[in-house]
Amino acid sequence: VNAALFQAQKMESIGQLTGGIAHDFNNLLSVLASGLEVLNMQRASNADARTFDSMRRAIDRGATLTQQLLAFARQQPLQPELHNVNRLITGFESVLRRAGNASIEFDIALAPSLPSTVLDRARFESALLNLVVNARDAMPEGGKLLIRTNAVSLKQQEVSGLAAGDYVKVSVCDSGSGMSPETIRRAFEPFFTTKEVGKGTGLGLSQVYGFIKQSGGEVVIKSELGKGTEISIYLPAVHGSDEVDEDKTETVLIVED
Ligand code: ADP
Repeated sequence: VNAALFQAQKMESIGQLTGGIAHDFNNLLSVLASGLEVLNMQRASNADARTFDSMRRAIDRGATLTQQLLAFARQQPLQPELHNVNRLITGFESVLRRAGNASIEFDIALAPSLPSTVLDRARFESALLNLVVNARDAMPEGGKLLIRTNAVSLKQQEVSGLAAGDYVKVSVCDSGSGMSPETIRRAFEPFFTTKEVGKGTGLGLSQVYGFIKQSGGEVVIKSELGKGTEISIYLPAVHGSDEVDEDKTETVLIVED
């Protein structure tokens, strides 16, 4: 509980800091942009036009960057709705597959019957994409990637951080590099990355973790160096909301004569 609280507070401080800087920077950029417009109207020669254009483009780029920072900093309120994770994964499958590459064997194994759960669809999809991208990055030479769903009943203390009860479990498994115990320990920290500069931001898993905790769930990492990684998301099941996949259910027809 303390670790989760610490994590949430850290994310909040980083969000506030980033948001504050981005906001002020954006104000400075708009002062520059309007100043530039005034000068542009008074320009003496055509040669100046190119200079003005490149300055304006630089300002536009700066504005785009600050928008992205603001989007990260703003703790967007969640839009929780009742969803069946099997259906969300199926609907998002083509995007997930595109995130892999040719040398990765990609499989999806959905539970034949799965209760629904309350979550924000867009955030769930981006969490899943984050996990798939990480799995892909862990297998530069290729390997196996499996997304699996299961309905599970947990006993007290079975998964630390979760009360006993019914959950929907979504796992992303890969046969990649695996993580050292130190990496596992720090994986949810914002900005923690082992990837080279420009490749990793270290924000993926911290966002997954924050979102799943906000949704009442838990994220569990199982990983072994050189063997692979399984990252599992647990989300509270909503009772009486099971969706049965008709294709996977045997229908017994009783013919009465
Ligand atoms: P990023 O992917 O930008 O580095 P993340 O927060 O998503 O940021 O991941 C943090 C770190 O956790 C990664 O740099 C990597 O070391 C480790 N990691 C995450 N997923 C996996 C995985 N499937 N296999 C091996 N290592 C992983």
